[in-house]
Amino acid sequence: MNIMFKSTRGDKNYVTASQAIVKGIAEDGGLYVPETMPKMDFPLEKITDMGYRKLAYEVLKLVLTDYTEEELKHCINSAYDKKFDTELIAPLVSAGENNFLELFHGKTIAFKDMALSILPYLLKTAAVKNGVKEEIVILTATSGDTGKAALEGFADVEGTQIIVFFPEDGVSAVQKAQMVTQQGNNTCVAGIRGNFDDAQTAVKKTFTDNELKAELKEKGYVFSSANSINIGRLAPQIVYYFYAYAQMVKAGRITMGNKINFTVPTGNFGNILAGYYAMNMGLPVNRLICASNDNKVLYDFFRTGTYDINREFIVTVSPSMDILISSNLERLLYHLSDSSKTSEAMNELSKDGRYEFNMDNEFIGEYATIDETFKAIHDLFKETGYVMDTHTAVAKAAYDKYIAETGDNTPNVIVSTASPYKFAKDVLKAIDGKYDSIDPFKALETLSEVSKTPIPAPIKGIDKREVLHRSVIDKDAIEEFVKNKLK
Ligand SMILES: *Cc1c(COP(=O)(O)O)cnc(C)c1O
Repeated sequence: MNIMFKSTRGDKNYVTASQAIVKGIAEDGGLYVPETMPKMDFPLEKITDMGYRKLAYEVLKLVLTDYTEEELKHCINSAYDKKFDTELIAPLVSAGENNFLELFHGKTIAFKDMALSILPYLLKTAAVKNGVKEEIVILTATSGDTGKAALEGFADVEGTQIIVFFPEDGVSAVQKAQMVTQQGNNTCVAGIRGNFDDAQTAVKKTFTDNELKAELKEKGYVFSSANSINIGRLAPQIVYYFYAYAQMVKAGRITMGNKINFTVPTGNFGNILAGYYAMNMGLPVNRLICASNDNKVLYDFFRTGTYDINREFIVTVSPSMDILISSNLERLLYHLSDSSKTSEAMNELSKDGRYEFNMDNEFIGEYATIDETFKAIHDLFKETGYVMDTHTAVAKAAYDKYIAETGDNTPNVIVSTASPYKFAKDVLKAIDGKYDSIDPFKALETLSEVSKTPIPAPIKGIDKREVLHRSVIDKDAIEEFVKNKLK
């Protein structure tokens, strides 16, 4: 079946998957969604026989229907290769009663690699298919992990430039070092004085500025996005929900056909939304547990039906989830209602910072404070020797609260989104208070000793690498910065 994409806000222009990937965001500021939900066309039983690449093909061909078999396979095989440190790509690991789907075995040791290692191939293929002659400029706002993964993905990719904005004081030392040492002639990184929401809002605005777009088109540039507003980010994430399920079956934790829960540490709502797509495509899912940190806008939303960002922005130990405006929630609103209700909510959000939305669905909101996050890391390490990063630990703590509340005994997978090495300082602090003031780079070696695991190659010696990007700008200067960059 051929699936077309349309805007969540009602724009009548339907586009193909490849066009949606090139554009990144719809003309009316909405996000692209499939006009009808794709459906699994293979028997579920078959997924246990498939490796990651095979399964990726079976799933992606249902969503990105205008790519040929050859194009898709080329993208998949180029993305999920030796860049990952395990042939499994996304292994399911158990620790005590818990099942962790580890999505951090790629080049930047966070889950963003799952989508951003394939997005450049999907985008380049899309540009060729659609006769795009201009250079593609990837504008990206990052809360820490997307930026690096996008930089790695697009570095030295011909016909592209990438510009990344990160909150200068809102990322971990390792995250920052990873970004400012990025090589590649087409890469550009700038810190901004502001938080992630400021960066994301400014980038979205730059994207939809028609005057600027026309000006740049003249100079031979078009914008696209590597943020999860791009459907090319979302689609590849659907794959690992099927893959997790297959591994649960193979490990004997469930019987084929049984429903399972997923608990997902959530920020921009992209990862968990991919789980919702997987469920709608036919994966047996019971509940999607949306875990927030202290910035618990989503928790409040799922509990009360009111989304309200009029609150303090809290800098936590899980910076990639320090977000108040979760962009991808717009897609869920659309799927649960229609484009007019969605536009209305989004207008209210930009006007008053809040909206109300009536709903009944498979999502459950939970959250964990910094103390609860630290305790989760500490306790699981003491019990099992398994070390979680601070984001995964939010999910673990939130899941434990969910169990205490409901007693639900449905088998559960905790989606593990980063290597503990990316947040080594805080992870060590959680394990033992004596590491409270350890140097963030020294912490890498110490964590290696404590956890008896090797430092992942991508960040070994990161503090010794040359800093190549030194710009720090005001949040209001993003558009000007982009203009200057693209002279
Ligand atoms: C991006 C990120 C998240 C949040 O994922 P969303 O798709 O934005 O909800 C959680 N944990 C880590 C480590 C991340 O990098």
